[in-house]
Amino acid sequence: MQAKKSLGQNFLKNDTIIQKIVSLFMPKENDLIIEIGPGRGALTKKLCNLPSKLICIEIDEDMHEYLDRFESDNCHIIYDDILNNNLNDALKDYSYDNLYVIGNLPYYITSPIITHLINSGVNIKEMVFMVQNEVANRFCSTPGNREYGYVTLFINYYYDVKKELFVSKDNFNPVPKVDSAVIKLTKKNINYDIDESKYFNFLKKAFQHKRKTLKNNLTGYDFNVIKNVLLTNNLDERARPEDISQEIFLEIFKSIF
Ligand code: SAM
Repeated sequence: MQAKKSLGQNFLKNDTIIQKIVSLFMPKENDLIIEIGPGRGALTKKLCNLPSKLICIEIDEDMHEYLDRFESDNCHIIYDDILNNNLNDALKDYSYDNLYVIGNLPYYITSPIITHLINSGVNIKEMVFMVQNEVANRFCSTPGNREYGYVTLFINYYYDVKKELFVSKDNFNPVPKVDSAVIKLTKKNINYDIDESKYFNFLKKAFQHKRKTLKNNLTGYDFNVIKNVLLTNNLDERARPEDISQEIFLEIFKSIF
């Protein structure tokens, strides 16, 4: 069967890399793993050997041919679009200690998938994803770097993000145009006590025009209050959004709302 480009089907063929990815977390018997986009089962075949239960969510029904053999009491395959899947419903029949999510993600919807998982409100302890190398750099970026932006702050608000492994494009079939990387997201213990959707709307506004100063993006707010926070953090009033850390953004947000 031909790989479907429109579904981001680039199948991982290097067994050493597959083993390294699966070793990035250590689930126990009472834990549950969700795999997104199992495809032909490259990761699934290793995940099945772990002691925990496994749910796989795959959009392409043609994958029955490869995935039926994994169905068991411990492994359940759901054919659905992960972006339309209600995770709370999918999980309601399971009791588990910790939830892990893994996937060699379809690159055309990497950020929507991670956003969907975070916004589901389901408590996920760790996530391990193969993403485009460039996207991995964006997720792991720090203030002062070109890749640093809204999505960096959104993901890092909830999770510590670490780039674990660079994976060159020739490890896939068909060979994609770009290289990849494996990232690991570990849930943070946060207690900022803020209205999160208001905070993320505020961040979107702050990054509306990345090259503009914060002052020019955050019109409609009292800039004197913002300026005070910038100055006490040794930043200039001409600071750009990409210069500002999450801690300082939170300080600004709390001082204006
Ligand atoms: N896990 C396999 C591997 O490592 O070889 C396949 C990875 S491939 C990059 C991405 C997989 O995600 C494909 O099997 C594709 O059909 C599936 N997929 C694409 N869009 C999806 C969606 N919206 N929901 C669930 N699965 C999706």
